[in-house]
Amino acid sequence: MNQKTHVDDLVARAAGAAPAFAALADVRRAELLDAVADALDGAADELVAVAGEETALPEGRLRGELARTTAQLRKFGDVVREGAYLEATIDHADATDVPPRPELRRMLRPIGPVAVFAASNFPFAFSVAGGDTASALAVGCPVIVKTHPGHPRTSSLTAGLVTSALAAGGAPDGVFQTVAGFDEGLALVDAEPIEAVAFTGSVRAGRALLERCTARPRPIPFYGELGSLNPVVVTRDADAARGAELAAGLAGSFQLGDGQFCTKPGLVFVPEASALEAALPEHVAAGEPRMLTPAIADGYATGRQRASAIPGVEVLAGGGASTAPTVLAADAATLLAHRELLDEVFGPVTVLVRYRDAAALDELLATLEGSLTMTLHAQPNEDVAGLAEWAASRAGRVLFGGWPTGVAVSWAQHHGGPWPATNTVFTSVGATAVRRFLRPVSYQHAPASVLPPALRDENPLGIPRRVDGVLQLP
Ligand code: NAP
Repeated sequence: MNQKTHVDDLVARAAGAAPAFAALADVRRAELLDAVADALDGAADELVAVAGEETALPEGRLRGELARTTAQLRKFGDVVREGAYLEATIDHADATDVPPRPELRRMLRPIGPVAVFAASNFPFAFSVAGGDTASALAVGCPVIVKTHPGHPRTSSLTAGLVTSALAAGGAPDGVFQTVAGFDEGLALVDAEPIEAVAFTGSVRAGRALLERCTARPRPIPFYGELGSLNPVVVTRDADAARGAELAAGLAGSFQLGDGQFCTKPGLVFVPEASALEAALPEHVAAGEPRMLTPAIADGYATGRQRASAIPGVEVLAGGGASTAPTVLAADAATLLAHRELLDEVFGPVTVLVRYRDAAALDELLATLEGSLTMTLHAQPNEDVAGLAEWAASRAGRVLFGGWPTGVAVSWAQHHGGPWPATNTVFTSVGATAVRRFLRPVSYQHAPASVLPPALRDENPLGIPRRVDGVLQLP
């Protein structure tokens, strides 16, 4: 059987499972997610050991990531149990409205089979049973994961556990499957019944897949989480008050996971002659990082080399022949003359850019594209309203203090941002990640017998709804 036929068969199974899975009560799908989480927790020792062998990530990090992954599965169960995600809305007919309105009932419905491209840098949380899979399954969309070649055994071990837990819980056959291989990934995107693609990875691959989704005879949405510089601004007052402390925090954040985080702070605006710059080198590790895949190691070495070679860029730590964590520094004029300094380098490197005054900082900030995060370090008495407004226009999450590398899974989380952070307005982390896999439908003058339970007058699901413009809580 060739790759395309094999993938088409899997997609046909997923499409066959879609109606029954969509019709399953939210509470039942939540139970299935709980069962998957329990299965993964029960196999934690084996999963962590295999992932450790494949990725070289330390055991503590992997245990924490697995716990985050299983908590995430349970949280998406809670989201659909609560029911507000359906946006159930009822407008009764009103002849006095302008214009007169018919009876309309609107809700969100699952879109159908979804393709998920697993990421390399989180073998659990953004991989086979990660956030994309969990959020799609939660709302009733069958999932086919294109596994990442950086951790194949972890992927198949995880997939086996997910498949068994879903089968034991009575899920329709075909709601969760995996494929491996570059061409299989393409065949998956091309398969007619696939309704959306979720992806975490490079801008280059993301753009190729986005264009492929658009070029299909029937185009489908592509939800890419792509590249991000995650700029940090340190005000002169903050630097004067706690520059050394900020240096330690920055060092911890940009070297975390050997810099292989989409939220790594890759660009830091500091005042000229800053205490942060003076203190940072002493916090930078000397050892060589163990990168996740040979391709990522190559990308890091090349990107770091390219940035270091830009005229005017100074190497404050690391650099040279070794691949040790690296701090680069440049004056404002260098960045303005060499925008390539803004190219994301995935790995333990960060760039300090010095500014003289507020006007110079504004000019530098204007050069930036979208990011997942933007961080401001200021003193409590400073007016940062302008900076905050600017940050909100360019990033999906604005931090006032702290560092961006931790991404909580919660109701208010947003993990997205203007291009190239993502190509949409949606998040891939947090409760509203489910919105990517849902489509609104309005029912006009529908007989009660055809209405989904969420829209029936008696509110049999007991969910929050908006009725005639008024929010009603159960
Ligand atoms: P990647 O190269 O973007 O690959 C991710 C996935 O896309 C893999 O499954 C890959 O398949 C597939 N793919 C790559 N190019 C494709 C194309 N032209 N058409 C269809 N599918 C394609 O990401 P990676 O391997 O994880 O790491 C490479 C770089 O991605 C990193 O250096 C970093 O810059 C970036 N990255 C970003 C994030 C983030 O969170 N934004 C996370 C991880 C990595 P195969 O592997 O089978 O070829």
